[in-house]
Order: sequence, then structure tokens, then C-alpha cells
Amino acid sequence: MMRRLAAAVLMLACGMAQAQVPAPGESTPAPPPAVASAPTTAQAAPSAASAPALELLVLGSGGPGAVGRASSSFVVLLDGQPRILVDAGPGSFARAGEARLHMQAMDIVLLTHLHIDHAGELPGILLGRAVSTGRPLDARIFGPGGAGQFPSTRRFVDLNFGPKGAYAYLKDFSAPLHYSARDIPARPIKPQVLLTEDGLTITAIPGHHRDAPAVIYRVDYKGHSITFSGDIDAHGLPALAQLAQGTDLLVFNSVVLDPPGSAPQLYELHTPPAAIGKLAAQAHAGRVLLTHISPLVEQQQDAVLASIRQAYAGPVALSADLTRVPVTGF
Ligand SMILES: [Zn+2]
Ligand SMILES: [Zn+2]
Repeated sequence: MMRRLAAAVLMLACGMAQAQVPAPGESTPAPPPAVASAPTTAQAAPSAASAPALELLVLGSGGPGAVGRASSSFVVLLDGQPRILVDAGPGSFARAGEARLHMQAMDIVLLTHLHIDHAGELPGILLGRAVSTGRPLDARIFGPGGAGQFPSTRRFVDLNFGPKGAYAYLKDFSAPLHYSARDIPARPIKPQVLLTEDGLTITAIPGHHRDAPAVIYRVDYKGHSITFSGDIDAHGLPALAQLAQGTDLLVFNSVVLDPPGSAPQLYELHTPPAAIGKLAAQAHAGRVLLTHISPLVEQQQDAVLASIRQAYAGPVALSADLTRVPVTGF
């Protein structure tokens, strides 16, 4: 309970709105009422005129362990409307329901990499959208190219939803599904604009996550921005610093403690707090939201935050499932 209180205080101190927040080990929020009586998100959400232009909703703030948080997943809302899904880790389907997410216009999917805790629930999310909206979807799915034992994103999507894929039936189950998938190659390590439309710009740069091809994304809309580190090791930090320059909100995956606090092999995959702080300062990030929270980071969050603050003077906080952060310039 103390940790939960501490997290809530941090959220408030940093101006981060917090929805229902299940602490690890505690029960998750009560399920929403039956669909017929549940308010739709369109009814519950602020009107486009009053909604922040850019907002982040955390569906999953955890990692691969089943320890009380859903795995990595976020929704970016533009003018109050959910438009972009960033990763689709297990558990995000349930959180989307708890958030009463209106997914009709959520047609862009950004996959940071193809580890299960980031991509394993994409079929469930797309099925949930089809069943709950009954509306056709033209999904644009972006992700890394393939290497070693990891398929490219195009192949991953084909293996799931293609004519011979495991879930080929989804193409016309409840609603027609059309999709296009685009691979972002590991070279060159330069920012590339993935799409620009109606004031929205999405830019990507290859990241680095040991042997898993990885992508860092930045979403810009109406003068505000969110940058997603994804799972990232030290080799990916120069690219992240480049893409995240001046970003309003830096969403940083926080999995390990400063050395030697975590298992040595984890440092080949993830970035410790001291390096997160240096990177955030170097990028002049407006604020930092930690996510992909491991149990160790949760237990030692005071030390983690103190370490980040050694180099970074801006607001920094741990996320929880269903944390919402309006991005209005900080
Ligand atoms: Zn992960
Ligand atoms: Zn990973």
C-alpha cells in the first residue's frame, strides 16, 4: 500500500493524471458493466474541443512476468480520439476494455520489436476491435525488419493474418480487416518519417535490443510530441538521443537497476537508471515516464528515481496500467 501511495503521490506531483491503478498483487479494477449499459468512450471522453491535442494512455506498464501489470502497450490519442497503438503486450486487451477504449479510428500500429511481451496480443486487440466496433479496418502496421530468429514485421503480420496465417479467419470476422505492414530496417541509423497526415507526423529510427531488431518511435502532433524508447540497450542510446531531441514526453522502458543491482545479462538488453537520466538530459526531454516496470524497479523505485535525477532535472514518474498523460507542452 505504501508503494501504491508513493506512486500516486509521484503521479500527482508530476501532473500526471492517473486512472484506476491496480498495484501489483492487488486486484485489478472491477470489470466494466455489460456492453449494453456501459458508456461508450465517445460518451465518456471529453469532446474534441476540450480534449488535449495529444495524450498518452498506458495499457500495459509491465514486462514479461505475470506480476500484476499488463505487458507493454500504449495508445496515443489525437484530439481525444484513440489513433495509434504502440506495442500490444499480453494483458493490453483487458486494459483496453477497462479503459472503455473506442477503437474505431485506431488504425496505426507501431511495434517496437517482436518479443512476446510487446507483440503477443496483437491478434486479440484486432479481434476485440472488430467485434466491438463492427467497422472495417485498414490497419497500417510498422515494425522492425527481421534478423536471426526474429521474423520481419511483414512476415509476422502474414504469419498471423495472411491468407495462410494462423488467424486468416480474422479478415472478415465481425468486420473486414485490411492491413499493410512495413519493415523498418536496422540500417541506416537515421530518422525516417513513416507518415505525415493531418498534422500528425510519425518518425522512426532503428534502436538496439541485443539480438532483437528494434525501433524507436516519435509521434508529433500539433506542436507536441511523445517518444518511445522501446526496450533498449546502450548501443541504441545515441539513436534515441537523436530522435528524442526536445520531445515533450519521453516514455522510457525501465527494467534494470544501476549495476550491479540486476542480473548481468539484462544489461545487454536494457538501460539502467543513471543512463536513462543522462539520456533524458541530453535529449532535453520535457518529462520522463518510466514503463516496462520490473518488480525490482518497483521495489526500489526511490533509488531508481534518485539515480535518474542525478542528471535529469525534469519531472519523472513511474507509470501504471491505465495511467493517462495529457501532453500539452511542459
Ligand atoms: Zn520487453
Ligand atoms: Zn524485449
